[in-house]
Amino acid sequence: MRYISTRDNSVQYTASQAIAQGLAKDGGLLTPFYIPKLPNKALEDLKSMAYQQRAVYIMKQFLEEFSVKELTDFANAAYGPEKFDSPAVAPVHTVDGSTHCLELWHGPTCAFKDMALQMLPHLLSASLVKTEEDKTVCILVATSGDTGKGALEGFKNVPRTKILVFYPKDGVSQVQELQMVTQEGSNVGVAAVVGNFDDAQTGVKKLFSNEKVRRDLERKGYFFSSANSINWGRVLPQIVYYISAYCDLLRDEKIEPGQAVNVCVPTGNFGNILAAYYAREMGLPIDQLICASNSNNVLTDFIREGVYDRNRQFYNTMSPSMDILISSNLERLLYSITQDPEEVRRYMARLNEVGRYQVGGKVKEKLQKRFKGYFCDDKETQRVIRSMYDRHGYLIDTHTAVAFSALEKYRAETGDGAPAIVASTASPFKFCSSVLEALGEADIAQGLDALDQLTAKTGQPAPAPLAGLRNKRVRFTQVVEKERMADAVMSLLE
Ligand SMILES: *Cc1c(COP(=O)(O)O)cnc(C)c1O
Repeated sequence: MRYISTRDNSVQYTASQAIAQGLAKDGGLLTPFYIPKLPNKALEDLKSMAYQQRAVYIMKQFLEEFSVKELTDFANAAYGPEKFDSPAVAPVHTVDGSTHCLELWHGPTCAFKDMALQMLPHLLSASLVKTEEDKTVCILVATSGDTGKGALEGFKNVPRTKILVFYPKDGVSQVQELQMVTQEGSNVGVAAVVGNFDDAQTGVKKLFSNEKVRRDLERKGYFFSSANSINWGRVLPQIVYYISAYCDLLRDEKIEPGQAVNVCVPTGNFGNILAAYYAREMGLPIDQLICASNSNNVLTDFIREGVYDRNRQFYNTMSPSMDILISSNLERLLYSITQDPEEVRRYMARLNEVGRYQVGGKVKEKLQKRFKGYFCDDKETQRVIRSMYDRHGYLIDTHTAVAFSALEKYRAETGDGAPAIVASTASPFKFCSSVLEALGEADIAQGLDALDQLTAKTGQPAPAPLAGLRNKRVRFTQVVEKERMADAVMSLLE
C-alpha cells in the first residue's frame, strides 16, 4: 500500500513515511493511493472478534510494513482496560429500534479523540524506527481543549517522544484546564498562552517554521512533528469503529447481513466523518453520510450548494470542538472524489487566497449523492439533550446532540427510516454546565462541583478520569506571552 499527497500523486510514500512525516512537503495531506476493499466474509469474521482484534484486522489492510504481532501489541496497549472503562471500547447503545448510538468517549480523556490518539503514538514511534529516524520527536500541539489532553494522555511515557501542549489561558473550560495542568508522565509539558486559541495556534505554527528554534532543537536531538488530525495515523484508527459498530449490530441481530445503514457524525475538521466515508469505500454497507454542524455551518452550505466559503461570522457555541471554519480533512474527500491532484490544488489555492471555492458538475453530484448536511443552533442543541433524556433516559453531550438533531431533520425531510448509527463524541460530563442547563437546572455549580450536580440530577456517576481530577497535583503553572513561546519550548525540554 502506497501513500500519495492529495496535491501531487506522482511521488509515493510508505505508510511509515506518511505517518512519521505527518503532512506532505507540498502542503497536501498524505493519503492511501487507493482504499482497499474488505475481503469477502470479512464482516462475518470480524463479528465474533474483540475490538482490539478488529482494529488489527482493519489497520493491517493499510499498513503492509507492520506485522500482525506489532499491531496486536499496539491495539492491546491502546485499547486495554487500563485505558477504556468499557470492555467493548466503543460500545453501541441502542436508543430505539432503528437508532444506534456509537459511544466513542470511554477512553482516558472522555472524548472521541482518544480512539485515535491512543493508537497514534504507537504507530508514530514504530514509524520512526522503520524510517531510521534517530532523533526524538517533539510533538507540538495548540489546543482549544479536547485534542491537547488527548495527545498528552496518548504520548505520555512513549519512548523517543516528547509532547508539549499550549492552551489559551482564557479559552478552555475549568475542567479542561485541570485535565491538562495535572498531566502525569516524564515526557510531557504544558503551558498556558496569554490570549485566545488563535494566538496559541499561530504561535505554534510560527515555531514550526522558526529556523533558529529548529536548529536549537536539532542540537538537543529533537525534531518537530504534529499530532493533529491531518496525520494519517489519526484517521486510520477511526475507520475501525464504524466497521466495529456494524459488526456489533450484526452480532446482536439488530440488522441483517448486507443491510444498509446511515451514519450521522457531528463534524468540525471533517476527520471523523471522513473515516466513515473510507469505511464505506472499503465496502461497509453505508448508504447516507449525514454531516452535522453547529451554527458554524460552512460544511452544510458546501454540501448543499457546492460552495465552500469561510468568509462568514464565527460563533462560539456550546459544542466548541466543532467551532471550525476550515475543515482540513475535506481535502482528502476532494481527492477521493476527483482523483485529480491538480484540481485539489486549485481548490486549496482559492481557499488560501480568497477563503472560498466552488465545485460543480460531477464533483457536486458525487458529493450530494453520498453526503447530506444539516446544522442547528445552541437552543436546538439543548432541546435535543432534554428530549433525549426525557424520552429515552439517555444522557448525551452537546456535540452528540447536534448529530441527533441532524438525523431527526434528515428523517423528517426524506422519510428514510433505515437503521442509523450516530457517533457520540464526548461524555456529557465533559460539558456539564451546558447539559445541566438543558435539563432545566437554574443554579449551576462551578468547576468540578458541576460533576456532582449532574450526578445528583441524573443518578449517573461521572467518569473516573474526570472525578479523579480533584486528587491530582497541579504540575504545570507556566503562563507565557505569545511572543515567548520559543523560550517555553526550550525550558520545557530541559
Ligand atoms: C474533535 C471533536 C469533534 C469534531 O471532530 P472532527 O474529526 O474534527 O470532525 C466533535 N466532537 C467532539 C467532542 C470533538 O472533540
